[in-house]
Amino acid sequence: MATYIENYHDWLRDAHAMEKQAESMLEKMAERLEHYPELRARLLQHLEETRHQQRLLEDVIERNGISHSTLKDAMSKLIAFGQAMGGMMTPDEVVKGAIAGYVFEHFEVACYTSLITAAEQAGDHAGAEVFRTILKEEQAMADWARDHLPQVTQQFLQRSAAPDTEAKK
Ligand code: MG
Ligand code: FE
Repeated sequence: MATYIENYHDWLRDAHAMEKQAESMLEKMAERLEHYPELRARLLQHLEETRHQQRLLEDVIERNGISHSTLKDAMSKLIAFGQAMGGMMTPDEVVKGAIAGYVFEHFEVACYTSLITAAEQAGDHAGAEVFRTILKEEQAMADWARDHLPQVTQQFLQRSAAPDTEAKK
């Protein structure tokens, strides 16, 4: 068995690990992109939001008395997921990356939706408020990823079909 608090604290650590993963995925993708300026700009904006989310989470983690060493354990859980998503060198990497981003942002939306309930149930109402704020940013990014996937795909297809044009990034 696990108490409300124990489950909540586990998921808080998972959320922190998720944001570390998000940061490295966004960094990698933004720095590789050359021919998709709108996508790159949105990724860089969300990279800043993600770094701020990490700081917000660290405050909540500290207020809940969770030690920093146990944070590192949770990180390894998500590495496999990140490896599957990141480091794509395929010719269509921008499209694969846009799809991975779409999935990842919706994953974050689900995690914070669940974490809000866990925080409320554990009595951390201030924490729940923080997660609602973060959730709005994740939802906005998820919506953007959904709305722009057709456009990114179209741009890729167009560049791909043109002679002497690099399409993949
Ligand atoms: Mg995030
Ligand atoms: Fe996000």
